[in-house]
Amino acid sequence: MSNFSQSIDAYKEAVDLMPGGVNSPVRAFKSVGMSPIFMKQGKGATITDIDGNEYIDYVLSWGPLILGHGDERVTTKLKEVVDQGTSFGAPTLLESKLAKLVIERVPSIEMVRMVNSGTEATMSAIRLARGYTGRDIIVKFEGSYHGHGDSLLIKAGSGVATLGLPDSPGVPKSTASNTITVPFNDMESVKVAFDQYGDQIAAVIMEPVCGNMGVVPPKEGFLRNIREITSENGSLLIFDEVMTGFRVDYHCAQGYYDVTPDITCLGKVIGGGLPVGAFGGKREIMEHIAPHGSIYQAGTLSGNPLAMTAGYETLKAMDKAAYEELGKKADLLEAGYREASEKHNIPLHINRVGSMVGVFFTSEEVINFETAQTSDLNRFAEYYRGMIEEGVFLPPSQFEGLFLSTAHTVEDIEKTIAAADRVFANLNK
Ligand code: PMP
Repeated sequence: MSNFSQSIDAYKEAVDLMPGGVNSPVRAFKSVGMSPIFMKQGKGATITDIDGNEYIDYVLSWGPLILGHGDERVTTKLKEVVDQGTSFGAPTLLESKLAKLVIERVPSIEMVRMVNSGTEATMSAIRLARGYTGRDIIVKFEGSYHGHGDSLLIKAGSGVATLGLPDSPGVPKSTASNTITVPFNDMESVKVAFDQYGDQIAAVIMEPVCGNMGVVPPKEGFLRNIREITSENGSLLIFDEVMTGFRVDYHCAQGYYDVTPDITCLGKVIGGGLPVGAFGGKREIMEHIAPHGSIYQAGTLSGNPLAMTAGYETLKAMDKAAYEELGKKADLLEAGYREASEKHNIPLHINRVGSMVGVFFTSEEVINFETAQTSDLNRFAEYYRGMIEEGVFLPPSQFEGLFLSTAHTVEDIEKTIAAADRVFANLNK
């Protein structure tokens, strides 16, 4: 058994200082029946906890670290920039540098505004959609997570699903009443919502590939159909690409599926491990944002030089070949999991898009939140603890996906598959 004594002590201290001992709920490891593991350092695909245990890391800070930990192309530039000052509250050249790269790569983005998190990006995108259309209703999908803004914290995924808290106290009823939720991949339900409220719907917000109920790809034609129905009704289409943006493809999920939304939200990879989010879209829509327009959005640290640098260097390193390579590694991982689960008779459904991999302990095909919830959560927790003992750090929730980085080697993946094989052999059957 690994020794977690320092993590356990650290948790005892933290739990008195911060709610649940953490600054973000999923870090508490609640659903897998463990005390949180406190991390000390990461290099490449390896992460080390404060007791000195090492793991192959598939969390990657919940997605941002697509180059792995401490990539020198990023850290060298960060060290240069930090010596010039950490924040100015005035424009810098670094902001335009990252903005140019984002506009080049993201088909829907002609103008962009940098913010500090994915939550800020989606909250701001919603305000923009409402301000631009003069309508109030937002349509979202059950089990999708778009950050913790009031309008979007309704039947949400991620930590909300992990902890079984579908609707948070503190969200006013009047706000919730302006959000309609429908099942993912269910065009009929979307049509019903539009039949009833079409002329009041400001926007449909969606993860083009869901990553917060585990990984759930869109069915063939689903994104295109949503694009059509929103255009026909004068509603905007918002792609929340906080997770998928620069993760599933060089041109994000919208490039991969060739469907162009009106507004795109970004986060995670765009900051390369520093706090960055962004929202962008057609010039004609974005020009409604202050100070050019009257829809207000602002941030003391937005466009922060360190954050812009980490983002720029990360995106620059991710050329098309890097995405191809990542996809191949994810393919290996997927095939290995499939083989190990069949060998040990463990019902498993695996969804994968690019380097996002969702492993569900169910025999059902997972196409939406309802089918994701058929997963055996006890079995997931047992598997999770087994993988930790094997030195593999996975997201501590059935409703989160695994991420790969360019730093993961084929050997890392083979070790992970061998670990899963041993863990599956010992699961309660
Ligand atoms: N949207 C999506 C699709 C996300 O996955 C997340 C975070 N997991 C967010 C928004 C919120 O981003 P943040 O945690 O940076 O606020």
